[in-house]
Amino acid sequence: MKVLIVYAHPERRSLNGAINDFTVQRLRDNGHDVQVSDLYVMNWKAPLDANDVRERSGEAPFHASLDSKHAFENGLQSRDIEIEQDKLRWADTLILQFPMWWFSMPAIMKGWVERVYAYGFGYGVGEHSDTHWGDRYGEGAMAGKRAMIVVTTGGWESHYGPRGINGPIDDILFPIQHGVLFYPGFDVLPPFVVYQSGKMDDARLNETREALGQRLDRLWDDTPIAFRKQNRGDYAIPQLTLRDELAAGRTGFGAHID
Ligand SMILES: Cc1cc2nc3c(=O)[nH]c(=O)nc-3n(C[C@H](O)[C@H](O)[C@H](O)COP(=O)(O)OP(=O)(O)OC[C@H]3O[C@@H](n4cnc5c(N)ncnc54)[C@H](O)[C@@H]3O)c2cc1C
Repeated sequence: MKVLIVYAHPERRSLNGAINDFTVQRLRDNGHDVQVSDLYVMNWKAPLDANDVRERSGEAPFHASLDSKHAFENGLQSRDIEIEQDKLRWADTLILQFPMWWFSMPAIMKGWVERVYAYGFGYGVGEHSDTHWGDRYGEGAMAGKRAMIVVTTGGWESHYGPRGINGPIDDILFPIQHGVLFYPGFDVLPPFVVYQSGKMDDARLNETREALGQRLDRLWDDTPIAFRKQNRGDYAIPQLTLRDELAAGRTGFGAHID
């Protein structure tokens, strides 16, 4: 298997650095090809802006999605974006690894998503009409590939439990798992979460490595989260609301899991 790890942490001698080293080693020991996009080391440019388009005249107003479409279709994207898109084409599996910062991914990783997921690549794929609202949510350029989040949190597991004050972890991660990953077509595996990272010691780190190692060994066998596919009949189109008879009476994120 070919695994791309997109990794965001500013310090290699950190818990995330140790987890990243372990992940790469375990996957290679299992015979997989691994590439790591270490965003801080790459000095990844996070803001999406007009500099992302080569040979752009400064006269027309910059439009984030239309300029992206034009650049993607005409080979005018900034080179760093093209390189990351090629890595995604190459990979069978994507791992996003990051510390949870303000209930999401660090800004540098959000900038990777915004810039690499170009119009025509990450979104705007397939027919868009009143009967087919694009190839997305289970279809798209990443269909057939798998993805998984590896995240560390300061908060305890109970803080992210069903009645925890932070909100359930599945809800916190929904915009990434359903939005960033399922939207362009990935099959999304359950996340690997390291809670209460401030209480890490050698013994706990060993337990964490053991548990993560088992997940990495089953990357291709584990069952993905059963997010409902947009174009399988569960949703009315073009309203894109879940049909009344499915998950009757339920609303919110959980209703979109079969
Ligand atoms: C801007 C910001 C926003 C945040 N927002 C949130 C949030 O919304 N929700 C939330 O839950 N948390 C939040 N946090 C906390 C954050 O998630 C944690 O600080 C982070 O997950 C810890 O990961 P790290 O790699 O930086 O750990 P580190 O700080 O590097 O290490 C954590 C612990 O692991 C130990 N350790 C590190 N490396 C090793 C090693 N090689 N071997 C053994 N032990 C080791 C360290 O001694 C330390 O005790 C936030 C933090 C910041 C800075």
